[in-house]
This record gives sequence, structure tokens and C-alpha cells, in this order.
Amino acid sequence: MRPEILFPLFTSVSTLKGVGPRVAPLVEKLAGPIVRDVLFTAPTGLIRRGLTTVDQAVEGQVQTFVVTIDAHQPPHRLGYPWKIRAWDGTGFLTLIWFKGHGPHLERQHPKGARRAVSGKVERPDGYASELQIAHPDYIVDEAKAGDIPEIETVYPATHGLPSRAFRKFALEALARAPALPEWQDPAWRECERLPGWREALAALHAPASEADLSPLARPRRRLAYDELLAHQLALAQRKASRRATPGPRIPAGALSEAAEKALPFRLTGAQIRSLSEIRGDLASGERMSRLLQGDVGSGKTVVAMLAMADAVSGGFQSALMAPTEILARQHFETIAAPLEALGLSVVLLTGRDKGAGRAAKLAGIADGSHHVIVGTHALFQDDVVYNNLALTIIDEQHRFGVNERRRLQDKGAHGGEGVHLLAMSATPIPRTLELTVFGDLDVSRIDEKPPGRTPVATRAAPTPRVPEIVERLRGAIAGGAQAFWICPLVSESEKVDLRAAEDRAADLARRLPGVGLVHGQMPPAEKDAVMQRFVDGEVSVLVATTVVEVGVNVPNASIMVIEHADRFGLAQLHQLRGRVGRGARESSCVLLYDPPLSDVAQQRLDILRRSDDGFEIAEKDLELRGGGDPLGLKQSGFPAYRLADPAAHRDLIAVAADDARLILARDPNLTSPRGQALRMLQELFDWKPTSPLNEAG
Ligand code: ADP
Ligand code: MG
Repeated sequence: MRPEILFPLFTSVSTLKGVGPRVAPLVEKLAGPIVRDVLFTAPTGLIRRGLTTVDQAVEGQVQTFVVTIDAHQPPHRLGYPWKIRAWDGTGFLTLIWFKGHGPHLERQHPKGARRAVSGKVERPDGYASELQIAHPDYIVDEAKAGDIPEIETVYPATHGLPSRAFRKFALEALARAPALPEWQDPAWRECERLPGWREALAALHAPASEADLSPLARPRRRLAYDELLAHQLALAQRKASRRATPGPRIPAGALSEAAEKALPFRLTGAQIRSLSEIRGDLASGERMSRLLQGDVGSGKTVVAMLAMADAVSGGFQSALMAPTEILARQHFETIAAPLEALGLSVVLLTGRDKGAGRAAKLAGIADGSHHVIVGTHALFQDDVVYNNLALTIIDEQHRFGVNERRRLQDKGAHGGEGVHLLAMSATPIPRTLELTVFGDLDVSRIDEKPPGRTPVATRAAPTPRVPEIVERLRGAIAGGAQAFWICPLVSESEKVDLRAAEDRAADLARRLPGVGLVHGQMPPAEKDAVMQRFVDGEVSVLVATTVVEVGVNVPNASIMVIEHADRFGLAQLHQLRGRVGRGARESSCVLLYDPPLSDVAQQRLDILRRSDDGFEIAEKDLELRGGGDPLGLKQSGFPAYRLADPAAHRDLIAVAADDARLILARDPNLTSPRGQALRMLQELFDWKPTSPLNEAG
């Protein structure tokens, strides 16, 4: 139950003065549906409105003047502005309005009236002309000059909701913020010299200088820490409760050892380490919740396969779920032969299985004669019943919804024991951010590539050089090579992007043999069919709108061309690039950009040219780009923070995680006075152990 003291913040934004039915949707879109959301919307800038005189005015600056209205000058033709000439004793100032406010303006500001006006000062026609202000921000009676703020906080604005209107709402929200008990550790606060919560909010909304707008300003760090602590606490609570759920005890078994011995290669050190971490979990008697992270091609599937063999040794079934038919099929092809050689039964179940064939597979899954089940969403459909599922492995886990993952997990629950979960992801998350994305999971990293891979030669090229690139492609294709050509979603409209991709495909098809196109709006079966033709070598250039099939293995594909590369996150570019360089051929990646390239864009592409390590790339990208969604992480389950900036506040993340752990160790039910205050904090951010904390859990 939400404490009453928070009610004023947890009501609709329409309770704020001036937020009527027209404005409410705009505020909701900008900030969120409740007053708390307005309170937590940080300003982005400030405007100084220094009071001055016409002879001292500085062009291009926002300034305030006290003037006498001298004359109204109606437009002499339609489409021309209404002008007011004003005088302040040192010179003339022209105030300008486009569109017909005229008669109203004349009534409001009659000749001879004294007014304070504020706005951006310009001299449009050079020295000769008079100073002017087009559409003054303020024009008020001289007596009310004090209403014009000297320093005005700027908020993000949208069409129909100017920053100035939002500022009023923010200040009202601030006035409603109650005094709350302190939830931060007093020693930490003192050491970091952080203000109290309410004080910090007041400072947030009243910056006095540019320095106050920095995420490093103390009030901002205080609020960021609050948010990170609320999140880390919820993650830690969830981790603790998961730990308390028992899971079937599965010791490492003979089958898995035999499977490992039969591999045509030796596991890398990172694979061995990850596998032993997984085995530790499986044998512990507690339910495993582990994420296996590693670049595309780092060898996650083999590790998953050996864990599945362990489950079978222990007498259990395991399931491996992939987001697409083609990925599921590839996994099946990788693991079926080695496991079947040991006498296990491996089955593939996808949406394509129908009728009697499907019924036979389901029967085998239900009676336990199939040990390892590989598939797509088909794995958790209602009529799929498992005999004794004890381990689920989810590849590209962020491509499934929370409920989809849960439905598969629920298929195995028996006798109060949970099903072990191993999630796999190829999205490189910098170590510093791991705690925020996967704080409630244990993480194993494969940060070492199998030996013998040649790095992909990467270079950037301006889009006008496409014809040259096409010529080179022609030669490579004649030599048997295959290529990906990625046309990402860049405009607001999917239709426009789709047309761009279709045009590109048509253009390439005129000049190159075997061009195929896949895009996000195709029915999955059609998409799979084109992909399959690419895998089979019938298509030599695959034009794709997005990262259609990260993880798909086409060893013969050795060329990757990415259009609009400057608009991608580096992590994404790296993932795309990871789809070539898997076979014997020398591989290359061309990053196309529209010139000119900004300095930062140049540096980012350079990182990619120099490094081949996904984690390193992600870390560097984070440093370079700072706030926002630097790595395109939103799709990977990154939490949407309001006040914390994962880049600028990353030093606080680990502290908050430690703090959360310590709090729970001392006061697991949050009953102490600080515990009570922390519950308030969690309510404030809606981050409780049961709420959707991220997409990973
Ligand atoms: P991921 O799932 O991480 O993208 P995969 O498991 O599909 O990577 O492995 C990519 C390729 O590397 C596969 O062909 C696999 O057989 C091979 N591979 C995996 N581990 C090793 C290793 N230790 N040594 C050599 N090759 C390996
Ligand atoms: Mg894979």
C-alpha cells in the first residue's frame, strides 16, 4: 500500500494548475501521467534575462527592457507583421508579431503605456536597422516587471507545450513534494556532501548557473543515487528471493564429459570458466538464474550444450529456445549430432511442425523419451507438456517478452522446485553497467574468442562511393563470396525506410547476381525462406532492413556493408560485423556514412576499426557518447532512469549495489527505521521486487 504522504505526487498531472484537457496529454507525453513524473523531469538549460537598456543591448542574447509604447505599426500588406515601436530613453526597440494579434495588442499595450519586455534581441538588417524582439517571451506592466525571472530554467518542450508552461508545472509539483524521512546512509551523505531529498529537488528545478545543470552537481548526484539505490535494492531483493527457491540438484555428469571429449576443438579458458560457474549453480540445490554473455561467435552454444548434457545425466530434460526458426534450426544442427552420438534424443519443435508429426514429437516430450528439446516460441505453447524439464536455455533472451520467458519456465515447475535458467546474450554490456541491466542475475562472460579467427577488416566510406563498392562486390561474388547489405531504420517512417531498402535491393539487383531482400514487415515464414536461400548460397547479397537475424551462422558470408553506420550504436555495429569473419575467407566490413562526418562520429567509427572486443567497444562508446541510450541498450532490457545517467553516474552504480546488499544483509525485511524510509523510496520510484525491473529477469 502506498503511504498517504505520497498521494499528492501520485495523482494525475491534470490536478496541476493550468493542465487542462488539451495540455494534459502533452505533459503526459513529455514527463509521464502523474505529478511525480513532472517533479522528476530535470531541466535541460537556463536562460539569463538580464535587465538592460537599448544602448547597452547585446545582439543575439535574451534580455529584459523597461520601455514606453511609442507607436503601433499595423502591417501594410497581408503576411507582414504587426510592429510596436518602443522607447526606453536610450534608444528605440521594435517589437514584432506575425499573424493577426494586432487590435488585441493595441488594446493591451496602448501608446504611452510602460511595459517590461523580455526576449531575444536581434538586429536583422545589420547596423543600420533598429534593434528588435520578435515575439517577446514576456510583455507585462512595468509594475509587474518582477514576474520576469532573471534566470529562467529551461525544460524539454514539445509542440504546444512551451518550456515556460512546463516550468510552472514543475514548480507546482515541487511545492507538493512532502518532507520524507532520510533513506540514504548518513555517513555516505556526509562524505559526499549530498543535500537532503527535498533540498536536492528544489536545487534541481532552480539552477543558478550552468554548473548546476551538470549531472555531477551534488543535488543531481543525490537524486541519481536515490534512483540507483531504489533499483539496486529491488534487484537485490529479487535475487535473494530467487536464491531461496530450490532447484533440482544436478551434478556434472559422464555424458557431458564424453561430449566435451568428442569436440573437434578444445574449449577456451573463458568457456571452461563459464561452464564451471554454470555447473556450480546446477549442483547447488538453488535455482540458477544466470546470464551467459559473449560476442557473436564466442562459443556460447557449446557451453549450453554441455550444460544440457549435464541435465540429462541427472535424469532431466532441457530446452533451448531461440527467437527465430532459422536460429533454432542452426542450434539443433550444432548440438543434435554430438548429443545423439552419446545416445540422447534431441528434437526440434517449431511453428512449422503440424498435425501427426507434431503430435508424435509432443508425445515424446511428454513421456520423456526426448531428452533435449530445441525450438522457438513453439516450446511454451499450452499443449506442450514436458516430462521433467529442469533446465531452460534462452538464446538472444532480450528478443523474448518477460511473459514468454516465464511461460517456458513454468513448464517445468514441479514439487515447489524451480527450473534452472540460463539466458544467453550477444549484446556487449560494459562491465560498469552490468549491475543495472542484470543486477538480479549472475553473469558469466565469454570474453575470449576461439583461436584462429581473422579479424574483420573494417573501414568507413562516404555513401557516394557506393558504385565503387558495388564493383568490388561483383568481383568477390564471382569468386564465390556472399555479402550482407544492411539498410537500417533511420527515418521516422517505416514506409520510407522500407522503400529505401527496396530501392537499394532493386539497384543492386540490376548490377549484381543473386540479390535477396528481407525486412521486418515480411511474414516470418517468408523471411526464413529468404534467409535459408542465403544460408544455402542461392542468394549472394542479402539486403536487410535491420538486424534481422543476429547470431545466424553463414560461414561463407565474408562481406558486411552497413548504410548510415553513423546512426547505429557501436555495440550494434559490432554485432552486425560479427556475422562475417566466421569462415576461412578474409572478411571485410564497410561502414557507409553521409558526409560530412562529425568528430565524435569519426572517433566512434575509429574505435570499431581498431578493436574487435565487444566489451571494450561498448565501454569506449559509453565514454564517448555519455547520456541518453548510448549503446542502443533499450532493446536489451536497459532500465529507463529518470534522474540517473548511466554514463555520468556510473561510479554510483557499484556503490548503490553494495549499499543494497548490505542493507538486505542487516535488515532483510526492511523493518528498521532506515528500512522503512527505504520502502518509501521504493514506492517513490515504483521499483519493488515484484515490479518489472528490467527486461532481463
Ligand atoms: P555463439 O553462440 O556465441 O555466437 P557459437 O557457439 O555458435 O557462438 O560458436 C561459433 C562457432 O565457433 C561454432 O562453429 C563453434 O563450433 C565454434 N567454436 C566454439 N567454441 C570453439 C572453440 N573453443 N574452439 C574452436 N571453435 C569453437
Ligand atoms: Mg549463438
